[in-house]
Amino acid sequence: MKDLSRIVSSIPPSETLAVSDKAKALKAAGRDVVALAGGDPDFDTPDYITAAAFQAIENGATHYPAPMKGITPLLEAIADKMQTDNGITLKPGSDIVVTPGGKWALFLALSAILNPGDEVLYLEPVWVSYPPMIVLAGGTPVAVTLPAADNFRITADRLREKITPRTKALMVNSPNNPTGRVITREELDAVVEVALEHDLYVISDEIYESIIFDGRQHLSPAAQPGMAERTLTINGLSKSHAMTGWRLGWLAGPSPIMKLVAQMNSQTVSSAANFTMHAAVAALKGPRDTTQQMTAAYKKRRDFMVPALNAIDGVECMDIEGAFYLFPRFPNSTKTSAELAEALIEKAGIASVPGAAFGRSGEGHVRFTIATAMNELEKAVAKLAKVAHEL
Ligand code: PMP
Ligand code: GLU
Repeated sequence: MKDLSRIVSSIPPSETLAVSDKAKALKAAGRDVVALAGGDPDFDTPDYITAAAFQAIENGATHYPAPMKGITPLLEAIADKMQTDNGITLKPGSDIVVTPGGKWALFLALSAILNPGDEVLYLEPVWVSYPPMIVLAGGTPVAVTLPAADNFRITADRLREKITPRTKALMVNSPNNPTGRVITREELDAVVEVALEHDLYVISDEIYESIIFDGRQHLSPAAQPGMAERTLTINGLSKSHAMTGWRLGWLAGPSPIMKLVAQMNSQTVSSAANFTMHAAVAALKGPRDTTQQMTAAYKKRRDFMVPALNAIDGVECMDIEGAFYLFPRFPNSTKTSAELAEALIEKAGIASVPGAAFGRSGEGHVRFTIATAMNELEKAVAKLAKVAHEL
């Protein structure tokens, strides 16, 4: 047989999805497993959204949508949302493409701007899929390591250190998966300064925008002076409306780039699902209280988990400012993060993601999601307290 794709063979499968599958299989086989691996809200999609989808199916929205890049009411609802919440002004007809999930929006963003040899800076710890997506889109991933000891802070100097003549773009994600950090005004200023100084595109992944605690404010790079023409913003409903299975996200940015994005979408997936788009209109135009209630629940869980984990000997957990992940470390352990995750599942029945999945600087950490019911989190803490001395 002839050889297979070297590029695809060079990337690993998504570890977050792999460990989620494994935890579900163990549960199905009767094992008592607390699933803290994949980040998928434990809440159901709000009723008014599912009702809109049923209605759309009954109304015949079961064919290709028109326009393929997003039905007009949805493009308008996204433009309204981004104006109101993010201060980003968009033309619905030319600056937005609806995608099957935020993940595809990220891949389209990279594909539309990269040529072979272009370097893309990403901030480490990094969500598992960024470096493989950069590779699949023909680019070269370059890590900018943000030290845990400095609260994973972004500085202009840390970014500048990795700039070369081939640097094309910078990826940012706030609120962040896996660190739980939310970008501050100073950090955003550093991103903007370096992007303008080196003529970089910025890919801003804002999928956890609604999950933010303690009155912190979400800041969008595209809304900063000089940034609209160089920033691609990703968002979607997976987290804000507990809609991971609906596969609904979007990409928004300058029309010359979005033209290529729409072309690529049309030659690959064609579109997101038609009735899902109708449900998304209901979600974006509907009341905000369900999203606020979910965020309040995540906050309550954070307020329980962070002190509870820190009270266990041998466990250290930084507080988080947003998203729904904790990234504890085990300072007395000599185990790798893969060994730690293995020991957690074997000895305590806790499924987690090894920190190394988020880059070398994640070594020594594991990631727990708090998109899990409180009683499950209490169970996890009790189980962990019993085995922590063996880790
Ligand atoms: N960005 C980040 C940082 C994520 O954690 C995820 C996973 N949900 C996504 C993007 C994509 O989400 P989805 O494809 O489910 O919309
Ligand atoms: N984004 C979630 C996570 O990091 C869901 C799985 C995935 O898409 O990677 O766990």
